[in-house]
Amino acid sequence: MGRSIALILVLMMLGPMAGCINEEAEPIIPKLGCTDSTASNFDPNATENDGTCLSENVSTTFESEDEDLSVSEGCTDINARNFDVNATEDDGSCNFSKNVILMIGDGMGWEMVRTAAIYNQVMEGNQGNLLSDFYTEGKGSGLAMQELSGFQSVTTYSTIVDGSTRNSLREDTGSNVPTASEDYRDIEFDPRNNLVRYNIELGGTTPWDSRYFLNNGSTSFDPMYITEDDPDSAQTATTLMTGVKTFKGAVGVGLYERPRSSLNNVASDNGMCLGVASNVPITHATPASTYAKVNSRDRLHWDSISSSRAGDDILSWFNQANGLDIMLGTGNPNTHVGDHYVHSSYLDSFESNENHTLLLNSPGAPDLLKSAAQSHDSETDARILGLYGSIGQANLPYSGANGSFEQSGWGLNLKNGPPSDRTRDYGPMTKEEYIAKEIDENPSLAEMTDAILDACDEDNQGFFATIESGDIDWAGHSNNIDALIGAVNDFDKAVENVIKWINENGGWERNMLVVTADHDHYLTLTDDFPNLVRSNSALDLAMGGDIEHMGHYWGPSKSDPYGSQSHTNRPVPVFYQGGCSQIINQSVGEGFDNYGQYVGGVSGFVDQVHLHLAMRAALIGDCLHIPVVYG
Ligand SMILES: [Zn+2]
Repeated sequence: MGRSIALILVLMMLGPMAGCINEEAEPIIPKLGCTDSTASNFDPNATENDGTCLSENVSTTFESEDEDLSVSEGCTDINARNFDVNATEDDGSCNFSKNVILMIGDGMGWEMVRTAAIYNQVMEGNQGNLLSDFYTEGKGSGLAMQELSGFQSVTTYSTIVDGSTRNSLREDTGSNVPTASEDYRDIEFDPRNNLVRYNIELGGTTPWDSRYFLNNGSTSFDPMYITEDDPDSAQTATTLMTGVKTFKGAVGVGLYERPRSSLNNVASDNGMCLGVASNVPITHATPASTYAKVNSRDRLHWDSISSSRAGDDILSWFNQANGLDIMLGTGNPNTHVGDHYVHSSYLDSFESNENHTLLLNSPGAPDLLKSAAQSHDSETDARILGLYGSIGQANLPYSGANGSFEQSGWGLNLKNGPPSDRTRDYGPMTKEEYIAKEIDENPSLAEMTDAILDACDEDNQGFFATIESGDIDWAGHSNNIDALIGAVNDFDKAVENVIKWINENGGWERNMLVVTADHDHYLTLTDDFPNLVRSNSALDLAMGGDIEHMGHYWGPSKSDPYGSQSHTNRPVPVFYQGGCSQIINQSVGEGFDNYGQYVGGVSGFVDQVHLHLAMRAALIGDCLHIPVVYG
């Protein structure tokens, strides 16, 4: 229960009594309390002395006649995090929690943002033909996220043990089934040996370093450097949520496989409303890292792990995640993905569980979600669980660059031309009916975002929300620039809605927005991309052919335009504003503490650990002190 509600209850209890006195009627029920007017706790409404009178006021007369020691300084605002019930005079120390909204574009590196931003500018009539007619460095423009005041580049590297980024330094807990192929439990974390780090000599001083576009090497720069020991979504989301570097595949656990306190836990401890939304399955790495603590992202649910103790899986953590008010994503086992992400036995348990309001793919799904969210009381109501998914994919329907949903239900990899399932099985439907059904039965990521804001906006303690676009990453894995642009734009619509909401709900003093990526993919635009995307559709460019007509290549080399299908260690952008943003501003090039050791910073960059610290400070309500992450 929030403090404000407690206050309202007290006022309601006092109300009838005050009425009696005003009407000068005889009190019908005696009111117990201290009736001694010289006592510090004298109660003017009390009609019968209950022996609780305190004589502090009397004792002060012995100390000093000038000083009234009944004055106690502190924070007197009942809504403040450090409200002092004994304080009688406000000393200006009140800390107010900020609402924090973390938005993660999975795989949304600097070049992915620029691709969508330039595409949008071209569609809006910008006549430039070359990249240099738009932008070649820094924050750029063309997307709502680029209108935020703060911008930095962020390192995303993982830990490494004995040459593998998947090894942990697990302790013998006797419970978690080990992830590591060998036992490294006697090794102490050493920042010099156990971090991949980022080398600016080899990887560039900025994500837009011009040497990435020269298509040849230089003496020190290595265009392949960023592909080595690349990060993954579980490890990077875990760092954003918990503030510690960890191994690939880790979900909410650190290098020693110990569960870590996450931003969800901080917010939950503060009694705040909690929301998570993703356009990929709720058990997928990024959303899972907000609520689960398991040592492998592959432990989706009991049926997807072969040898494990019961409960050591992501969905079990979701089931018992305290304080999670609204969770929206895909993975509905009734769609074609079946039991893979959310086992149907869990669905049955959610359906019969009064602690959950279950929403599934159904006609009018966006409106149903909206009304459920708007009527939701985060202090008392059951958790809203929305499980969706398109007919032919594991994620929400793909909109594509032009917003037509033309690709929805296709296989994504288009490098060999139109996929064989282009003539997808519509059943009795026309293509138009099929697309209309997909849109009608799934909320968009922006609609999911609105639902979290609606469900949480009346919580007196504020809220913490994580919103992820997982299909930016999936478009990258498929080397599909059309799906990529559509996915970044769908994500940006959600960002736009959050910015609008913040401006109407307390502004940047009471809210903090952090828009970032968990990791990069390897995409390079050619200089004539703007001209090509104007005269050909993005779908034409995605289906490619030769490099002269693609306007882009995946990987470091024009000679192999589909050379990369995976992540890189190139630092990613962060766009941010409000709350404790100054902590991010102050962290450029700075180090941080992890596992009791000091980790040096990288010149010109912040790390995901710093983003965590700034958000944690905002949730605590104290921007002046950088929180300590205990090892
Ligand atoms: Zn990925």
